[in-house]
Amino acid sequence: MWNGNWRDRVWSQLDRQWDMIVVGGGITGAGILRLASRLGLAALLVERRDFAWGTSSRSTKLVHGGLRYLAQGQLGVTRESVRERERLLREGPGLVEPLGFLVPTFANQSPGKRSFAAGLAVYDLLAGKWDHRYYQRHDFRLLAPHVDSENLQGGFGYYDAVTDDARLVVRVIREAVRAGATALNYCAAKGLLLNADGRVGGVVLQDLHKGRTAEVRGDIVVNATGPWSDELRADVGGKPRLRPSRGSHLVFPAWRLPVAQAVTLLHPTDNRPVFVLPWEGVTVAGTTDLDHDRPLDEEPQMTHEELDYLMTALRARFKSLDLRGSDAIASFAGLRPLVGDESGDPSKVSRAHSVWEEKGLLTVAGGKLTTFRVMALDTLLAARRLRPDIPSIETDVPMLDAGVEDPLAVDAISRAAQGRLSGYYGAEAASLVGLARPGELELIPGTPYRWAEVRWAAGQEAVVHLEDLMLRRVRAGLLLPDGGASLLPRIRGIVQEELGWDEARWQEEETAYMQLWEEAYSVPTRTKAGPCQ
Ligand code: FAD
Repeated sequence: MWNGNWRDRVWSQLDRQWDMIVVGGGITGAGILRLASRLGLAALLVERRDFAWGTSSRSTKLVHGGLRYLAQGQLGVTRESVRERERLLREGPGLVEPLGFLVPTFANQSPGKRSFAAGLAVYDLLAGKWDHRYYQRHDFRLLAPHVDSENLQGGFGYYDAVTDDARLVVRVIREAVRAGATALNYCAAKGLLLNADGRVGGVVLQDLHKGRTAEVRGDIVVNATGPWSDELRADVGGKPRLRPSRGSHLVFPAWRLPVAQAVTLLHPTDNRPVFVLPWEGVTVAGTTDLDHDRPLDEEPQMTHEELDYLMTALRARFKSLDLRGSDAIASFAGLRPLVGDESGDPSKVSRAHSVWEEKGLLTVAGGKLTTFRVMALDTLLAARRLRPDIPSIETDVPMLDAGVEDPLAVDAISRAAQGRLSGYYGAEAASLVGLARPGELELIPGTPYRWAEVRWAAGQEAVVHLEDLMLRRVRAGLLLPDGGASLLPRIRGIVQEELGWDEARWQEEETAYMQLWEEAYSVPTRTKAGPCQ
């Protein structure tokens, strides 16, 4: 599908009238492409960097309703989200998995125990289940022994879900392509084409890998560029509506910040929730929520202030661990594509999504990873208003295809691990295992990924640069110290075989990856200035 000279093949097929052109290869664009493909539309998705390069590889990885949004009165967002969470758990086992959450309660803390109890009751009712409970102090300490015990009363336990955000995007896009859609990464929409009547009728594309450009016509053009949505809208005179807000996370080795399930802390200075969750064998802590005042074409990165902010919460609530910023092995920062309201606290801006039309351009922004299916449905509804001949779509349409039903019949991998592969790669899991060379079904040390996944990604998953592989296909760049530099000698062999890179190309890619990792994924304490604690 995406091997050999696939980019040239796709490029040579662009010159046709598309039913729908989707700009942006994050989770929003991916979901729209998938549903368009279910309707049999001729649909094209273009992404100017890598698939999931934007916010959709930098989220907290939760598939959740967002208790916080409930507290802010965003009942509709919460209801929609918990229902989508339940659906994704059903459709994507192995990729979307239940995750237990613990919320400690302390004496003299506000909101107190009663407020949490009421919030969790509503949360569960919205999802149509009753899955939370209160633990007395003694029991709570057994579950979360490192949470500070001073003034601890006990705490609540409830369930949400967790995923690998970038893998979810790639799975959805690949399933769309298998169903007949077309997708190209490193291909930017440089501008909009207007018809004689002044309405949008296509896009000017530039292949950033090969430098070529093309004018491509489409009946419907969807702007799914997340925090960058205002850029394309400028071509139709759209006034800025996006308010990008940055959120950053720290990644700790699990042994340094051990949590068996996620812990929700209330930050001691502003009472915002900070999540500490087990993910892919490490512990992720975040997030911040700040207006992003850096240029949007720069790679987002965590600042010293954000590091201090997160460390303040972790040091206060996990006192006995005596954590330092330098204990973290990586960081990552993403931009929330919030719509509207320029004033006030960004963490209070609505997480609801919006779909709107300007001179034929449909823009869809806001929302959450969790609600991407609903966003896609609403976008197709809006597209149908512009082009009534687009078939209608059932609102309970599935997003993910069925995975591999039978175990992969491979003795080298446990049943649980086969379930994971099936979740991550859907029906392609069997092909991935089939392409593995001897020894490649072994785990990459320190990660839940196998060497076979590196080979599969390099050869089959549209990897253009080393960063695509290290940060988004297998997440070694987030899970291992120094961006997984120690793996590079073995990865080099696999990548050179699969992608045909010569020595010079490999060196160029390795240097660029390590530089990017230092700039945007390392921890500010280690590289950008002296220790902060
Ligand atoms: P993006 O993922 O940013 O995708 C937009 C894409 O468009 C980018 O890849 C970009 O390169 C591309 N693009 C831009 N301009 C062009 C162009 N001209 N041509 C071609 N391509 C272009 N949600 C949850 O449900 N759970 C969470 O735990 C969660 N945590 C979050 C934590 C943080 C810190 C942040 C910032 C958000 C979080 N969210 C979470 C929200 C969620 O991640 C986002 O709503 C979602 O990922 C946005 O997806 P998107 O596709 O709209 O945007």
